[in-house]
Amino acid sequence: MMSGLPSHLNQVVPMYCFTAWLPACVMTAILSLNGIATGDDAAPESLPTPPKKLFQGKVVLVTEALEERGIKHYPEMKDQVALETPDGELIPILSDWRGRAFYQDERLRNRKVELVGFRREGLPYLQILMVFTFNDEGERTYTDYWCDICSIPMYEIKPCECCQGPIRLRFQKQDLPDYLDDAPSAGDATESP
Ligand SMILES: [Zn+2]
Repeated sequence: MMSGLPSHLNQVVPMYCFTAWLPACVMTAILSLNGIATGDDAAPESLPTPPKKLFQGKVVLVTEALEERGIKHYPEMKDQVALETPDGELIPILSDWRGRAFYQDERLRNRKVELVGFRREGLPYLQILMVFTFNDEGERTYTDYWCDICSIPMYEIKPCECCQGPIRLRFQKQDLPDYLDDAPSAGDATESP
C-alpha cells in the first residue's frame, strides 16, 4: 500500500513538471538568445573596445585636486587618481591591468603624461592602454616596468612574474602610435572576425 502510492506519484509528478516547465525553459532560452543577438546584454568581455584616443595632462590624487578647488571631501576618496587635463577637467582612471600603476606608483603622478586609452559610454573612467611620460629633456618616453633578469615587460608594481625578483620603472624614447591619426576602426580591424 505504501509503496504503491509513492510509486504512482513518482511516475506522474516528474512528467507533469517536465511538460509544465518546458515552455518556460524554452522561453528563457529564446529570451537569452535574443539578448545575445542584440548585444545589449552581452558579457563585458565581448563589448567592443571604443576607438583609442590620446589623453594629455597629469595624473593626480583626486583628494589633492579637490583641495585645490576648495571642495570638501571625506577620506574615502583617498586612493582615487584622475587625469587632470590642460583644461582642468578631472577624468578618473580605472584601476585595471594598465591604470593600476597610477594608483601604486607616485613616480607616475604629478608629471606630464600622454595616455593612449578610451572611455566607454556611460562610464566616467579612462581606461589606459599605453603610458608615455617625458624625460628632463622633454623627450617622449614609453613607460612600463621591466625585469632585467628575465627581459619581460610588466605594467604594475609587483615581483617579476618569472623570477619573482624586483622590477624597475622603464622609460624608452618612443613616438605615439600611428593609429591615433587613422580612422577609429582601423586599429581593431585585424582583431575582428
Ligand atoms: Zn624576472
